[in-house]
Amino acid sequence: MLQAATDTAITPCVVRECRGARGCPRALLDVAEASAAIAEMLDACGASDTIRRRVKGPLLEHHRFKVSVSGCPNACAQPQIADFGLIGEERPRVDQSACIECGACVEVCGEGALELTGTGLLIDARRCVGCGSCIAVCPVEALSSERKGWRVLMGGRLGRHPRLAAEVMQGASLDEASRMARAVVGLWVREGAASERVGATLDRLAGMEGESLALTQTEGERASALALLLKREGPSS
Ligand code: SF4
Ligand code: SF4
Ligand code: SF4
Repeated sequence: MLQAATDTAITPCVVRECRGARGCPRALLDVAEASAAIAEMLDACGASDTIRRRVKGPLLEHHRFKVSVSGCPNACAQPQIADFGLIGEERPRVDQSACIECGACVEVCGEGALELTGTGLLIDARRCVGCGSCIAVCPVEALSSERKGWRVLMGGRLGRHPRLAAEVMQGASLDEASRMARAVVGLWVREGAASERVGATLDRLAGMEGESLALTQTEGERASALALLLKREGPSS
């Protein structure tokens, strides 16, 4: 008989990584390296001590600072509902003069983002999710990386008031993503209220208090406001 899973040793911070850390062939970037870097940064910022100090009573799942790292846009570790999340991405560019119009990239693209026309290969950037599969199958290297790096997400959560994370950066190097993580965690350590999740702290500080006001913001506006806030915090320093 199946038993209910119980977590007897809840830690204040948790870093979840997808199978990319253990050799998933779809991983575009080094998931284990990114997880280790963010975990180290959480330690250095005192995130665990902050949670222990703020939480009165037993530590519960919703108190934890959740980091999630996925090696490709399949996002198996669910970074969209983490306090801080990373997703590996690789966007293609085409060298039309090298393309032999074999159609392999069109066939492999599950998003319908590629089309062979009489004049060459068209890439629809709005449909492309950055999985990099087309680049990998091109037999003549007519496709290469336009951009390869981490998408940086923050402020996701489930619970009573579920919310998807806002995406504040694309194509970030691990160094840039780590600096962004340090900025957001530093801000939350200093300014967060008791039991307040990162997303709520960021929204409050970005002048978007109240769920109804937040709901009037488009995802792009929210992401821009958070990026501005973090820029002031000095993520590039
Ligand atoms: S997110 Fe991508 S790299 Fe990670 S386990 Fe899923 S398919 Fe593999
Ligand atoms: S990167 Fe992925 S989604 Fe984008 S065009 Fe290539 S195969 Fe399609
Ligand atoms: S796989 Fe390469 S050569 Fe074939 S159509 Fe695509 S870009 Fe052109």
